[in-house]
Amino acid sequence: MQYLSTRGHPDRKRFCDILLEGLAPDGGLYLPERYPQVDAATLARWRGLPYHELAFEILSLYIDDIPAADLRALCAKTYTAEVFGTPQIVPLKQLEEGLFLEALSNGPTLAFKDMAMQLLGNLFEYELGRRGEQLNILGATSGDTGSAAEYAMRGKKGIRVFMTSPHGRMSPFQQAQMFSLQDANIHNLAVEGVFDDCQDIVKAVSNDLVFKRQHRIGTVNSINWARLVAQVVYYFAGYFQATSGDTQRVSFAVPSGNFGNICAGHVARMMGLPIERLVLATNENDVLDEFFRTGVYRVRPAAETHETSSPSMDISKASNFERFVFDLLGRDGARTRSLFEGELARTGRFDLSQDPAFRDLQARFGFFSGRSTHADRVATIRDTWDRFGAMVDTHTADGLKVARAYRQPGIPMLVLETALPVKFASTIVEALGREPDRPAKFVGIEQLPRRVTVLPADAAHVKAYIAGHCA
Ligand SMILES: *Cc1c(COP(=O)(O)O)cnc(C)c1O
Repeated sequence: MQYLSTRGHPDRKRFCDILLEGLAPDGGLYLPERYPQVDAATLARWRGLPYHELAFEILSLYIDDIPAADLRALCAKTYTAEVFGTPQIVPLKQLEEGLFLEALSNGPTLAFKDMAMQLLGNLFEYELGRRGEQLNILGATSGDTGSAAEYAMRGKKGIRVFMTSPHGRMSPFQQAQMFSLQDANIHNLAVEGVFDDCQDIVKAVSNDLVFKRQHRIGTVNSINWARLVAQVVYYFAGYFQATSGDTQRVSFAVPSGNFGNICAGHVARMMGLPIERLVLATNENDVLDEFFRTGVYRVRPAAETHETSSPSMDISKASNFERFVFDLLGRDGARTRSLFEGELARTGRFDLSQDPAFRDLQARFGFFSGRSTHADRVATIRDTWDRFGAMVDTHTADGLKVARAYRQPGIPMLVLETALPVKFASTIVEALGREPDRPAKFVGIEQLPRRVTVLPADAAHVKAYIAGHCA
């Protein structure tokens, strides 16, 4: 399988080359040059496979530069009951007839980012080992991404993580989760500033090409294709659990921010998985809902980006969205380039409302969308608890709220559960008047010793720290 850029660059690359890269050289995102097709016979063969075997079958359609035996071993080592809590890895929970939660949040950091990041850690270690190279991962986090990256990379050979976060601004649980890691290759840098300062520092360091090369700086952000393809697997796993035969259809509802999770659903559907609807849910930061309703994509300035009670969906632009637009426009790289590099860069928006591709988007791609507010979240958490005895987190509540409007008789609706309630306790207390349950392995983590270095909000200090800690 070869990979191309959404902006039309003529080069083609193999999986392991794009694994360690971020953007394509022309600023586009990588996609496979075609989507492998699965037919009913393949689905029948995959039904009933353990999760790690299913992961191997799907990944091997996209990865042909890792020997099959090695890829199989990497999948088996990643998706274990020990790491993900159950043998099914992503068990379905039925709420009522035709409505399910698919649990993606039983990994080490209790959020769905573990599903891909755990595999990425093993792929990085494998590929760096093969090349005899090292990688220093530099990132900025306000919570979920940083902890998922650290738990995936801890103890991995050839890899160090330097994770900046805004000092004193993450939830106490999230701070405890990250800062209690004692692994020598994990470095927590608490920056005296806000999340934007952390992002600016990462950008400044990455733009210093000499420093970047000399210190082998890389990233693990959500535009990495390996993360996306790992997420395709749980759409298949959810489908098999909700159906008994391979002609049945299901719909998925996906709490969305950067469009990574639901983009994996789009890929699964393009491969031929019988998905009826892909329901995209946003919170008050409704950039994506606006696009799917109106055809206008308008990135938001910082002043218009709301801090909400589903913070992992607080985005001003959706970094993976370009992948879908490329497919929507019939894979026209020149046109995608002119939209993102021209119109969007110049005016902060583009408008596809008059494009025929937008007009039959629902029929061709199955996308529907809606938005949810803090009041919706609280009401949904309460209602789900009262009626079904299930406690859901704020992000999953956004998904459930929007899913309601798009259910169809006879077609199971699977809402992706993207985090556990314990990560966002204050809204649970507001909705239910009680603290969320805490999984046993997290009891008392606030009392553990911490490894964190506080630094001024300044790229020079972060560079000096990195230089002093990578041998
Ligand atoms: C990251 C995240 C999301 C958003 O996922 P995207 O892939 O960015 O759309 C939703 N919920 C939780 C809990 C997350 O951590």
